[in-house]
Amino acid sequence: SRRLESEKRALEAQARELDRHAHQDPLTGLWNRRYVDDELPRLVDEAITRAAPLTLSIGDIDLFKSINDKYGHPTGDVVLCAVADLLRDNCRPSDTVARIGGEEFLLVLEDTDPPGAFQVCERLRRAVEKHAWARIAPELVVTISFGISDPMAGADARLLLATADRQLYVAKNAGRN
Ligand code: GH3
Ligand code: MG
Ligand code: MG
Repeated sequence: SRRLESEKRALEAQARELDRHAHQDPLTGLWNRRYVDDELPRLVDEAITRAAPLTLSIGDIDLFKSINDKYGHPTGDVVLCAVADLLRDNCRPSDTVARIGGEEFLLVLEDTDPPGAFQVCERLRRAVEKHAWARIAPELVVTISFGISDPMAGADARLLLATADRQLYVAKNAGRN
């Protein structure tokens, strides 16, 4: 009947809302680690099926511990939110942006090969570098380093993440930013 139909719709809306909460990072509003765990294998499979390139990138804020130490944890949280906004606002709506750790972000770039991902990351890196951080705290400087996944990692989500993480480590050792 009509009443059952409308109750069913209400329950479905409630389920969607619960799903969103389970998959969203409350601090930044980005997707969270659980979303990545749940969705990444599907996105990788889909890219294989469509024979479309897919590249992952991990971004990690440079020397974030010293930002927290110098300006305090609440300012650290403001920086995290501002970086999240910069990442989201400077890539495509079809790109997935998630916070997967304290100051670590994952980009899932569909239909993007590694040179394309490099361009995206370079744009994001520059957006973070030139942001007006001093408006948040005097002399505050924020930079971010990125690692890009190896296409040879193929169709394995865990391997793609591991190769991006290894490249992030290379970027950190090469002087960050
Ligand atoms: P590197 O350039 O090598 O990445 O140095 P780093 O200081 O950024 O790296 P490290 O992993 O040593 O420090 C990360 C810091 O992030 C430590 C932790 O206190 C802080 N952190 C983690 N989660 C949060 C959070 O939700 N809010 C705030 N304000 N800080 C956080
Ligand atoms: Mg860091
Ligand atoms: Mg880190």
